[in-house]
Amino acid sequence: MRPARALIDLAAFRHNYRLARRIHGGRALAVIKANAYGHGSVRCAQALADEADGFAVAFLEEALALRAAGVTAPILLLEGVFEAEELAEVVHHGLWIVVHDEAQLRMIEASPLARPLQVWLKVNSGMNRAGFVGEAVAAAWHRLRASGRVAGITLMTHLARADEPQVIATAEQIARFDAATCGLEGAHSLANSAGVLGWPQARRDWARPGILLYGADPMPQGDSDLRAVMTLQSEVIAERRIEAGEALGYGARFVAERPTRVGLVAMGYADGYPRSTPDGTPVAVDGLGSRLIGRVSMDMLTIDLTGLPEAGVGSTVELWGPHIPVNRVAEAAGTIAYELLCNVKRVRFDYVDRPD
Ligand SMILES: *Cc1c(COP(=O)(O)O)cnc(C)c1O
Repeated sequence: MRPARALIDLAAFRHNYRLARRIHGGRALAVIKANAYGHGSVRCAQALADEADGFAVAFLEEALALRAAGVTAPILLLEGVFEAEELAEVVHHGLWIVVHDEAQLRMIEASPLARPLQVWLKVNSGMNRAGFVGEAVAAAWHRLRASGRVAGITLMTHLARADEPQVIATAEQIARFDAATCGLEGAHSLANSAGVLGWPQARRDWARPGILLYGADPMPQGDSDLRAVMTLQSEVIAERRIEAGEALGYGARFVAERPTRVGLVAMGYADGYPRSTPDGTPVAVDGLGSRLIGRVSMDMLTIDLTGLPEAGVGSTVELWGPHIPVNRVAEAAGTIAYELLCNVKRVRFDYVDRPD
């Protein structure tokens, strides 16, 4: 069997959730949208079944997959509903919804519902993507109350630059949120992962950590006690020696400066390892540091084994995980950990767990 796989450490996932809740205080929705950032939303939800205050996904179908797998905790739809017909399903499955615009308000006002809704009213405090601004927040809040279809309202906003500790934008967003919601009843939810880790003023009733649950620290100093959840790994399946001056792989991007022992690894961009990684991107071979050389191809990539006399065919190669932070690979590839994690596909997924 092809050795490419993603090893998912569910105990690490639980550790990270607990850390987030401890730092933030109050309650925390574990954000498991996009198939839990590529980790498998059902398995991740089940790993937190006994302790999560709730989960958040992007839209209805993501929540229905969790309900079908027996997840009974609260689930928030972060984009809310797209059409009024979805509200019956929302009620039937006891889901919570974000309301971020006028169209969604109208859908609620126009729909007879079997039971009242739990609504998270989204305030646009500066991201300028979704949400109500300024006085429109109170107006929306009063309309939800007056509709008779809403049992509870949580007030939320989303931070655009919380991963930049030196920038004033986050403090401004928090101030705008507080001004817009002043006097309105309801719990508050401001903090994504970076908000949890970096912004005490954003810690209110509910946290919404995502990326940190998977062990990728969004803050530049990255000094929190997070554990990597996914190990993307494969094996050396062949090796060869190339002489100084010989080229390696497509486009001859890498040309050896000295005799070089090349390891061929069963992992490519079709598995989600980014093709944009340059020569020198770190990998770990049987736990020891090495580097990518040559262009990543669809099914294979090549690494430098020259300094690793013990390594060869059958050696385990970690592309990211506990030894190689996914943030480092993302930086080398010119992207963010979120995108790399979400893109993993085709490899076998193995779940490991151990009792706490
Ligand atoms: C995705 C998302 C989150 C989680 O963000 P992270 O940066 O992954 O912690 C929180 N809130 C909302 C509204 C989101 O869409």
